Amino acid sequence: MKITFLGTGVGIPQAGRVQSGLIMEISGKPVLFDCGCGVLGRIQESGYEHTDIETIFLTHLHLDHVGDVLALLKANWLMGKTAMRIFGPKGTKEWFEQMISVYDYLEGRFEVDIVEVEAGESFLLDDPECDCKVSTAPGVHSITSLTYRVEHNGKVVVYAGDTEPCIPVFELADGADLLIHECSFPLNFEMTNHTTPDMFSQMLEKTPLNVKQLYLLHLYPHMQGHEEEALEHIKGNFKGDVRIATDLLKIEV
Ligand SMILES: [Zn+2]
Ligand SMILES: [Zn+2]
Repeated sequence: MKITFLGTGVGIPQAGRVQSGLIMEISGKPVLFDCGCGVLGRIQESGYEHTDIETIFLTHLHLDHVGDVLALLKANWLMGKTAMRIFGPKGTKEWFEQMISVYDYLEGRFEVDIVEVEAGESFLLDDPECDCKVSTAPGVHSITSLTYRVEHNGKVVVYAGDTEPCIPVFELADGADLLIHECSFPLNFEMTNHTTPDMFSQMLEKTPLNVKQLYLLHLYPHMQGHEEEALEHIKGNFKGDVRIATDLLKIEV
């Protein structure tokens, strides 16, 4: 599977990192995970066509993860493409209906199929061309935040939404080739609902993490200059490869 990180930042602007979003290429098709502000532009910069995106998975409904959904739909509509399927947590339908209702001129322009997903659910993507299983787990965040495990062609990629390090996410990631996890704040930063390197390490001491590769993202500006320190700290308790993701980085698992 090819992974393209589109946005590795958060709600506060910073050079080089837009808000959350990444593409997993599944059977040659780009599937978008989260679509925060700046992601639409990054799709273009990454070499993908925004009109090729037919499926979006939303981890949760915070603005830094959904801010460009409507902008993407409008861009597709301007190019003559109106269908989209959106998977998201409970509340996604209501969020979408309310958001679209304030733009009279866009109402009825798109055919959006919204599938609300419960944490713990497992399903096959019903695309005949793609053999892809998706499973979910709950994160620990201020609102419902899903982690997605995607299995395709014998490879497993897990994308954790905003969360503290927690057992359900570590268990869902068991055996994964790649875990993409947030690391919002630096070492010793007092925080709940998000992850710091020491919180991650403490979880690793309690629950071994059986994944080959770990990429960290969702970096607040507070993390600038503390990236290496974060990696070194986590390496003390993690045997696999751990790196910090950057916008427009492409990797293959
Ligand atoms: Zn959030
Ligand atoms: Zn966030």
